[in-house]
Amino acid sequence: MMQIQPKIEQINGKQFLLLNDFIDADMLPAGDMGDVWLVNSTQGSKVKKFLRQVLRSNDRRVYLKPILLEDSIRPFLGVDAAIIGRLSDGYFEAMSPLKLATLIDQVHYYLNRFLNPVLPGMDQHERVLQYIFDLAYTRGSAIIPLRSHQSLTGYAYPRIDSFFFNIKDAYMNSRLILKKAAEEGFLVRTYHDTQHLCSDCNSGFLNYHEICPKCKNHNLKAMPLVHHFRCAYVGPESDFMLHDNMVCPKCSTALRNLGVDYDKPGKVFICKNQQCNHKFQEAPIRVCCVDCGKEHDPYELVVKKVYEYALAERGIQRYVYGAHGIKTEVNS
Ligand SMILES: [Zn+2]
Ligand SMILES: [Zn+2]
Ligand SMILES: [Zn+2]
Repeated sequence: MMQIQPKIEQINGKQFLLLNDFIDADMLPAGDMGDVWLVNSTQGSKVKKFLRQVLRSNDRRVYLKPILLEDSIRPFLGVDAAIIGRLSDGYFEAMSPLKLATLIDQVHYYLNRFLNPVLPGMDQHERVLQYIFDLAYTRGSAIIPLRSHQSLTGYAYPRIDSFFFNIKDAYMNSRLILKKAAEEGFLVRTYHDTQHLCSDCNSGFLNYHEICPKCKNHNLKAMPLVHHFRCAYVGPESDFMLHDNMVCPKCSTALRNLGVDYDKPGKVFICKNQQCNHKFQEAPIRVCCVDCGKEHDPYELVVKKVYEYALAERGIQRYVYGAHGIKTEVNS
């Protein structure tokens, strides 16, 4: 196996392990190296892969390690920037030395209370919850959904999603784990947003069409509706256009002043299907899924609420002080 010479920098009396060589070699450093790990690689996809490996490690010394991003890499991360921000403790510059020292102390203090910081084998749901509690407890943080193109629905829980290998599994499992934990009183949830999802594939990337009620075509032209006061004729603006002037097609009077001799009470749709040419005011909506291509009426979409989660006392008792937590390990 390849050996990496660890590069450690001393900053404000703390040991920073530079991760570039580890990220390049796709290797995890040992959990006892450095007080802080510093991501100084500009390769977004490799950084993301590395951070996902960190959180899937069974060693608390690895997955609880404070990890910061070097500020200079920010412009290189591209589409991965938001996710990478959430898989780490953020940018070095944004973290005050005091806050960082506190975080390091909290993690040390927490880890020191275990006889063995390596997790025993457990099923995946429990493993993810153990991780969530260890992390959120040492960080004093909540679990907040992130708007993201790189997710099935448009919302991600980056740290939980990273336990799963594709966006579909990530969506299904993350929501299920969080929902169950909230139902069992381990987490407390608060409303964040409502989503409409494809009922075939759960995608949140949907294209809304106004369609012709007769032929279902969605190639429509919308035009203002004109109402001539004197003869009460109402029709699309195109009925009134004669060269550059507006002339009423019913009474042949020229229209001059909006609000005085005519008004525009709304709009009308004209179907551009040559066989149809239907004119109508109320256009039904059809929804086309960007991911699977299926079409739906709006009432067929799946309505899902998105929540933020915080640790509940019951959950802290179970995961922080419970069977795999700090109390029993120290006592046993
Ligand atoms: Zn039509
Ligand atoms: Zn008229
Ligand atoms: Zn779909």
